[in-house]
Amino acid sequence: MSGLPSNPPLPPPPARPLKTLRGVGPERAAQLARLRLFTVDDLLLHRPRRYEDRRHFRTIAEMRLDEPGTTRGNIVALGLKSYRGGQKSVFEIILEDGTGRLHCRWWNLPFMQNYFAAGDEVFVFGRLQSLKPRTIDHPESEVIEGGEESSIHINRIAPIYPLTEGLPQRWLRSLIWRTLGQFEDECREPLPGKMPPDFPTRARAIRMLHFPEALEDIEKARRRLALDEFIALQREIQARRKRFESRARGLPCAGNNRLIKPFLARLGFPLTNAQTRVLREIRRDMGAAHPMRRLLQGDVGSGKTVVAACTALMALESTYHVALMAPTEILAAQHFETFKQWFEPLGVAVHLQTSSHKSAARDPKVPMLTIGTHALIQSAFAMERLGLVIIDEQHKFGVTQREELLRKGNYPHLLVMTATPIPRTLGLTLYGELDASVIDEMPAGRGRIRTFVRTTDTLPKVWAFIRKKLTEGRQAYVVYPRVEETSGGLKAVTGEFGNLKKVLAAFRVGLLHGRLRSVEKEAVMAAFRAKQLDVLLATPLIEVGVDVPNATLMLIENAEQFGLAQLHQLRGRIGRGAHDATCILVAAAANAEARQRLKVLEETSDGFRIAEADLKLRGPGELLGQQQSGAPRFRFGDLVEDLELIKLARKFVAES
Ligand code: ADP
Ligand code: MG
Repeated sequence: MSGLPSNPPLPPPPARPLKTLRGVGPERAAQLARLRLFTVDDLLLHRPRRYEDRRHFRTIAEMRLDEPGTTRGNIVALGLKSYRGGQKSVFEIILEDGTGRLHCRWWNLPFMQNYFAAGDEVFVFGRLQSLKPRTIDHPESEVIEGGEESSIHINRIAPIYPLTEGLPQRWLRSLIWRTLGQFEDECREPLPGKMPPDFPTRARAIRMLHFPEALEDIEKARRRLALDEFIALQREIQARRKRFESRARGLPCAGNNRLIKPFLARLGFPLTNAQTRVLREIRRDMGAAHPMRRLLQGDVGSGKTVVAACTALMALESTYHVALMAPTEILAAQHFETFKQWFEPLGVAVHLQTSSHKSAARDPKVPMLTIGTHALIQSAFAMERLGLVIIDEQHKFGVTQREELLRKGNYPHLLVMTATPIPRTLGLTLYGELDASVIDEMPAGRGRIRTFVRTTDTLPKVWAFIRKKLTEGRQAYVVYPRVEETSGGLKAVTGEFGNLKKVLAAFRVGLLHGRLRSVEKEAVMAAFRAKQLDVLLATPLIEVGVDVPNATLMLIENAEQFGLAQLHQLRGRIGRGAHDATCILVAAAANAEARQRLKVLEETSDGFRIAEADLKLRGPGELLGQQQSGAPRFRFGDLVEDLELIKLARKFVAES
């Protein structure tokens, strides 16, 4: 029937547009295109939205109030009523199956009358809203037609697809049925001979996806097709990596300890075991044949900056320049201060280059460290002997920005650092082309951080507590979500500044938000660091990197507005010194669900557990921030659940 030539072989399915299929004219093709279905391959992977077990269904009398269910019956009456001068309408059909009658209504969708005729047998799926008479508003419906085709639609587990206006469920199901029959033999195994026996073949999985024989088939099919998606992604990652390695030679940047030795001797504390281990991994990379591509993960406060400094010194010892990129001007300025103190005694020049600070003239022959924000990318900044690029708080940057900075040099080594603990599934997909190091140990001698979730009515007590701690000489952050008042009733720092000065009348309060000019921001941060301010009222701008060990208090209002991972980052601003620290999260009393979510932070300070919880609750986009729109999208794969499949895909591709 298909009349397909068997020789020469056909091109792979993606090359076959849907309009070449029998029965798909220009109008249907346009409707399918609205569902982003263009080729046979797209169609065969069109995932049902749900399934309906049409081997068993309820009689009309068995339908329960408020419970979704499927039933069937014959149309005994139907009609369209218009009112309000024809502006409003209701179309109704009444079904009868021998056990009872069911009214189905569609409001303001008069064209529904075109789909039904008296005597038709109809499936409906929906929730019974009332019993007298039995009524469902806006059910999903499908007219049952007799004849040969009926075996596709009834007496089986039937797929229910996402649709678009004018495209009938039945028609689409028939099209997929026919297309399967025609093309399923051509489904290719991505890794022939590799699949473990408990996975169906790809062809079988695609059939099971659309026409499962048992309910378990649905998940079996999903897992197999998800695995194929992960295999495709891993192939891409590994191919990109191979291409990169064939093009790029590693610059010899392992150093000779000339600067690191005196640096560590004067640092004032010994490195943790985790820091030392990570530095060994980095040194190996910096002397290897291919440029380093390493992701350094370490929870807030784990001491990534010192690792960055040692890495920079290796390159500097090898007489290469180093660039360090930070996501905000505040953080760039803080790094500039830190590195100046650390490096200038060693004879290393440190420059700051942000949109408000332009670096002075420099002698390109002397190895130097340039610190900047993304202005570093936009500027004409280019370095002859750029040996190493360090990117702090990587999750704040997009992948393209990273690539741009790298292009400034001749394949420099790359170290990206992040405090966002990346769940393994994301690490293996989004950052798959990077080697990962983890600092899994905190420096000794840190005070505890205790976290409390409170409601707004307890604020007076909270302020009393904060005043007591300020009197003892500690400093505090107060964080509100907005810069300026908006309609949502969320607290804004500019509006609350006056209030806060009254509540904390005996203390010096500073204000920090993103709309201040850079010099103002830096002045406020410098004053807080120098203890000329007791309290910093800020937006989440201070989320990344800011390091003031004497600040031991943090109050976050409207905490329900933030993701758990973001709150964990914010909380990481305190507990950096020897004193115990307290973080108070205030959420509206009405929002019990939000308070429940925030409890995760009361219970754990393990960034990985928090990130996993965030991934489950909010999905990868939220966890990584909108800049990371590079997050892979899967039709079948699930980044929360599929770690085992991702690992399997990686293993298969590595072995192939
Ligand atoms: P993050 O990993 O969040 O960037 P930082 O690098 O800012 O953390 O380090 C937090 C604080 O811990 C800094 O004040 C830093 O000087 C200090 N620190 C880093 N490593 C150690 C260590 N091995 N022992 C003691 N303190 C350390
Ligand atoms: Mg940091």
